[in-house]
Amino acid sequence: MTKYPQIILKPGKEGPVLRFHPWIFSGAIEKTIGKPAEGDIVECFSSAGAYLATGHCMPGSLAVKLFTFKRQEIDKAYWDSKIREVWQVRKSIGLSDNLCTNAYRLVHNEGDSMPGLIVDVYGSLAVLQAHSSGMHDIRQTLAEAIVSVSEGKITAVYDKSAETIRKMTGRVVNDGFLVGDIGECEVLENGHHFHVNAVTGQKTGFFLDQRENRELLANYAKGKTVLNMFGYTGGFSVYAAKAGATIVHTVDSSAPAIAIAEKNMKLNGFDAPDYACIVADARKYIETMEFGQYDLIVLDPPAYAKNVASRNQALKGYRTINAMALAKIKSGGILFTFSCSQVVDRQMFTSAVTAAAVDAGRQVRIIQHLSQPHDHPVNIFHQEGEYLKGLVLLVD
Ligand code: SAH
Repeated sequence: MTKYPQIILKPGKEGPVLRFHPWIFSGAIEKTIGKPAEGDIVECFSSAGAYLATGHCMPGSLAVKLFTFKRQEIDKAYWDSKIREVWQVRKSIGLSDNLCTNAYRLVHNEGDSMPGLIVDVYGSLAVLQAHSSGMHDIRQTLAEAIVSVSEGKITAVYDKSAETIRKMTGRVVNDGFLVGDIGECEVLENGHHFHVNAVTGQKTGFFLDQRENRELLANYAKGKTVLNMFGYTGGFSVYAAKAGATIVHTVDSSAPAIAIAEKNMKLNGFDAPDYACIVADARKYIETMEFGQYDLIVLDPPAYAKNVASRNQALKGYRTINAMALAKIKSGGILFTFSCSQVVDRQMFTSAVTAAAVDAGRQVRIIQHLSQPHDHPVNIFHQEGEYLKGLVLLVD
């Protein structure tokens, strides 16, 4: 077996790893044997010398992202088997062979025991995004494995890691195709058509994590006037319009996103002015709204907290934007409100929204709790992985 550099933990620090928590922090490390560089594979041992897990070496206080707790050779065959595994899971949950939906997440970080890796599938295109040098270094192997397990369905893989790798490691790398060259495509989500541009779009091109919540919104939308705030390329809007909403306004501060939102509304048969897509800042737009203009509002802001240090500021942000929407929504209206900040947990988010209801002076009932869909699994030992939280509120 290849001899990997070894990380030896301090006495008593092995508990979380024994419980399969996928991270090791630098404070738990007693010493390192060998000289692992960032991205290298390392094996972790207890202070008594027992093998615990294998992972990728990271820079900073999160020192190792663990991907297996079984001692083995980490070679092409290992990664091929991991990709085969995620493909089988998506197949078994009805996604990789679905006539109504061909856009889904194939690899979800810690949730699929591949910390540092995200892969989203858009029809015959897969978009890979590495959040660690270790995963980035093996992107070509991963891309070829994805094409090879896909039963002929995936023919192109785009690597979109430049931004995430720069933020994480400071290294400058380029985005580009690892296999084939499909950058733009049209996908189906629950039978609705969406244009996706993986190259110029945000994240991997589309927010797949809202698929089930969009479908839920459709149940409430018939005959309603709807505001889809932070609407990006119009995901919620298409569902609402198709479900019979009389007015759907999509608002986002990004002009390129709004251009695609307009295209998506047209693709599904809807046009301005009733189905207008508007470039505007959220606060400015809500400030100028009339009271009662909308029956149904979606608030799906970007992650306000990127880390623990910005959490308090983020909670204030959630409170403010929710208070503004709650103050303007029609009596009897419904608010779908979300946070996708990993460091803001469900309790904190609910408290911020409660404070917003107090600020707005409205009576509010929680009628549903929302989360991310089944192709974004949460490792039970790493519950921070449940990053998307939502509430459906009935506002008296
Ligand atoms: N609901 C969307 C995803 C939203 S992602 C979907 O289902 O696809 C968050 C969006 O907020 C991004 O599109 C981003 O451009 C937009 N955004 C960020 N800051 C904003 C602001 N101040 N006002 C309006 N939109 C903003």
